[in-house]
Amino acid sequence: MTASLPALEVIQGDLAAYRHGNTGIDYVHRFASGRPGPHVLVNALTHGNEICGMVAARHLLDSGVRPLIGTLTVGFAHVEAYDAFDPARPFDNRQIVHNLNRIWSDEMLDGADDSPELRRARELRPVVAAADHILDIHSTSQDVVPFWVYPDFDRNAQVAMAIGLPSVHLLMGNGLGNGTPLIEHGAYARADAPGAALVVECGQHFKRTTADVAIAVTMRLLAHFGLVAADPSWPPPGPQRRFALLETHVVKSLDFAFTRPLIGFETFAKGELIARNGPDEIRAPCDDCTIFMPTREPIVGREAVYLTQPLTAP
Ligand SMILES: [Zn+2]
Repeated sequence: MTASLPALEVIQGDLAAYRHGNTGIDYVHRFASGRPGPHVLVNALTHGNEICGMVAARHLLDSGVRPLIGTLTVGFAHVEAYDAFDPARPFDNRQIVHNLNRIWSDEMLDGADDSPELRRARELRPVVAAADHILDIHSTSQDVVPFWVYPDFDRNAQVAMAIGLPSVHLLMGNGLGNGTPLIEHGAYARADAPGAALVVECGQHFKRTTADVAIAVTMRLLAHFGLVAADPSWPPPGPQRRFALLETHVVKSLDFAFTRPLIGFETFAKGELIARNGPDEIRAPCDDCTIFMPTREPIVGREAVYLTQPLTAP
């Protein structure tokens, strides 16, 4: 069964004009203030069809944002996948071979495998290594509220809570459970490292409001680190909701099926059946189990659903 296609509200322009940056690495642009301060990497298009990050990166480049302190690097991570966009199949160009956000282990990067994503990750490795802090901009296939995803370290929580947009936080206490995302590359996975690394999921891939969220979060994060001036009109953070990632399930079988249609943020009682995954049942491991990012169309080997537990307010 093919799900109906959502409206494509954001025009996907040609990025060729952004290819030659000033770093020697295609689609990576760096601006040094000449003053001491943090080096922040704003990373867009880790997934080819998650175009809100592309809009935010273009906003920075087109409007000539320059850091007041430190260094700003702006990158379009996976333009090869982005360029494979087909409006009739807008979910298909998320990746070409590998998920670019699951291959950031030394084992994969130093290994013998080859793919467009591994080649690009190897190119981007020094870009990531040079940064002190990373904002990795993503979006979701379903139209749900925006949320942060980050390793459950104080340094990450402090940044996300201080920005407060989005107001929903998904904390990874023990990795993602399926490969190594960019925000867990190298020192970013270590409890004692200094750098913050955050994913922001800005909303549904193709909505204009999602791109607006990506720009707003990017500017607030740069302001948080002092690279740009804060806008006095930004509202202070409101109440925040936090969830702990408990389980990541991968589709094992073509007959994977949720017990009811899900888009994300539905809750299940402890023991309640959420999905059938071939011979396995996926059941809620806790009360108020809240699901994130249910797959829109199951593909064997790709992620099916994340199970989380709501946390009390900090
Ligand atoms: Zn993504």
